[in-house]
Amino acid sequence: MLPASLEEAVEALAEAPGAVPVAGGTDLMGAVNAGLLRPVALLGLGRIAELRGWQYQDGAALLGAGLTHARMARPDFAALIPGLAEAAATVGPPQVRNVGTLGGNVVSAHPAGDTLPVLAALEATLTLIGPEGVREVPVSHLLTGIDPLREGELLAFVRVPLLHAPQVYLKATGRTGPGRATASVSVVLDPARRSVRCAVGAVAPVPLRPLEAEAWVAGCIDWDGDRTIEPAAAAAFGDYVASACVPEPPEGMDGGPGAAVLRLRRTVSVLARRALGRALK
Ligand SMILES: Cc1cc2nc3c(=O)[nH]c(=O)nc-3n(C[C@H](O)[C@H](O)[C@H](O)COP(=O)(O)OP(=O)(O)OC[C@H]3O[C@@H](n4cnc5c(N)ncnc54)[C@H](O)[C@@H]3O)c2cc1C
Repeated sequence: MLPASLEEAVEALAEAPGAVPVAGGTDLMGAVNAGLLRPVALLGLGRIAELRGWQYQDGAALLGAGLTHARMARPDFAALIPGLAEAAATVGPPQVRNVGTLGGNVVSAHPAGDTLPVLAALEATLTLIGPEGVREVPVSHLLTGIDPLREGELLAFVRVPLLHAPQVYLKATGRTGPGRATASVSVVLDPARRSVRCAVGAVAPVPLRPLEAEAWVAGCIDWDGDRTIEPAAAAAFGDYVASACVPEPPEGMDGGPGAAVLRLRRTVSVLARRALGRALK
């Protein structure tokens, strides 16, 4: 099935219960090839033009779920939503970025999904379209399962507020070259509200927001001046974020798993400090 519009796609899903939508196929076809999934039918989303671009609406960008990572990594998109462009540029090898999509990344909801911490920090919302109409849910609600995709529903758009301020995404991987994140941090400045928003990815099943650390560091920034922060405060922010998002290793576990947790804490602390430093540069 290859519908040419969202309306046709929703109708086709209603007529073929059990059919599975496929965008770039980079996650889905892996599962099919590994024998983990046997869909009764596939619904290709690749011909739906409205899913591939973006439009502006009330100070926000409405991003089509079919935007590829390669498209989001281009300079015109980076000027609009720099954090998302940075995240998209780090996804897998070029073959994956050329076909893998924003919508597929969100619906797959892999803990190390690169766009997810950025969308969490931006407090993005998702437009879902199904047989019962259109509804809007916060990205965190879909990822945590509070409000999952319902039978026959498609993710159509991702609504992202345009903040016109620095945003940074940093990712640590277990090896050099492209790879899944072992930890990632997104930092977003919102000067209009004098706030800093941060989300940490890959350390838990869903991105985590260290809300107390965000509020604390916002109070350390000279918002009326040149938006600077003392180096010691930036380092303390890193530690604050890490202790909020990575559990303390159990006592007496200096080696083995305890050491791995400590390493992860250090990694998150460094990523958060650097991301804040780059956002305030
Ligand atoms: C070699 C390799 C390396 C990778 N590296 C990374 C990486 O570094 N970082 C990272 O984040 N990901 C990585 N991935 C995972 C993958 O490429 C991304 O998650 C990608 O964004 C998935 O998009 P897709 O369009 O290919 O999704 P698909 O495989 O087409 O779909 C994924 C899931 O989403 C559903 N779906 C897709 N679009 C919609 C929609 N509009 N509405 C409802 N459901 C939908 C499908 O039914 C399926 O369940 C990698 C994958 C591979 C194969």
